[in-house]
Amino acid sequence: MVIVGSGPAGLTAAIYTARANLAPLVVEGEPSSTSDQPGGQLMLTTEVENYPGFIDGIMGPELMTSFRAQAARFGAILKTEKATKVDLSSRPFGVWVGDPTAPEPTYTAGALIIATGARSLMLGVPGEDKLLGHGLSTCATCDGFFFRGHEIAVVGGGDSAVEEATFLTKFADKVTIVHRRKELRASKIMQDRAFKNPKISFLWDTVVTEVLGDNSLSGVRVRNVVTNEESELGVTGLFVAIGHAPNTALFAGQLEMDENGYLITHDGTNTNVEGVFACGDVQDHVYRQAITAAGSGCMAAIDAERWLEAQQA
Ligand code: NAP
Repeated sequence: MVIVGSGPAGLTAAIYTARANLAPLVVEGEPSSTSDQPGGQLMLTTEVENYPGFIDGIMGPELMTSFRAQAARFGAILKTEKATKVDLSSRPFGVWVGDPTAPEPTYTAGALIIATGARSLMLGVPGEDKLLGHGLSTCATCDGFFFRGHEIAVVGGGDSAVEEATFLTKFADKVTIVHRRKELRASKIMQDRAFKNPKISFLWDTVVTEVLGDNSLSGVRVRNVVTNEESELGVTGLFVAIGHAPNTALFAGQLEMDENGYLITHDGTNTNVEGVFACGDVQDHVYRQAITAAGSGCMAAIDAERWLEAQQA
């Protein structure tokens, strides 16, 4: 049993398959500043207030550290490596880490659970690549501290943007939410919190057209989409929180995906390849919550266990 991915879905699948004596090996990813690192997107969040069982909330990284320790306790083997290639054309399936041109896979799997999650979308505007990590960030938890006393902006109108903006007011003097419409997509409770926060202001109907600065971010060029008027925001930090895309490049041409690249599952967590199961955000563009990812990780483990049993019968 090989599991690729180690967010709530992958590690829940690991806990369940380990407890079913399937000795799962988890290719958990490599440390990075993006959401494909071990632990997944919750490593880049702050307080998780809606994961059941934690009355006062819990920090995302702390929650994932507990998931990981729980999987290890039951014998899951955790490999801090990044999968670079998979071969799903025949069983056992092959999983490569490191050199994808190596003739033999690093691991072979009788059954495979894919839980590679999703990653932050970027704006695709000039200056973005250059200034990522130099004033431009996708992770308030990681980088908020650097903006103590600064004026910064957050792009997006969903829960992520509003949550990040609210968190960033702990550090920054002023946080401007730049949103392309004049209505937020975020949940009502998050919106209310942001509207009441005196440090948060809103720039409606506005898009970022350029991130300015040479060695560090010195401002952001914005355009009002109604009037077409351009202006400059004098901020020293920009947090991009405009949604996510699934991490499915590894499976192109081998697994069925929808038009946005999310894996298609049927009858539970089955993919189009028998013996390959998918769970969590990599196959869910609707709910995308830690609890639903964990739930589908449990489903994938049970589906995989039953499928393996049927193979041996
Ligand atoms: P999201 O809900 O998809 O929101 C993305 C936001 O970015 C939208 O407001 C969208 O604008 C805007 N946007 C997208 N592309 C853009 C672009 N190129 N330029 C400018 N703006 C752009 O993504 P999310 O906020 O990351 O949330 C994802 C999921 O995680 C949701 O289900 C959310 O509920 C959940 N989540 C929950 C919590 C929590 O409960 N604590 C925290 C974070 C996330 P439009 O509105 O115009 O489409």
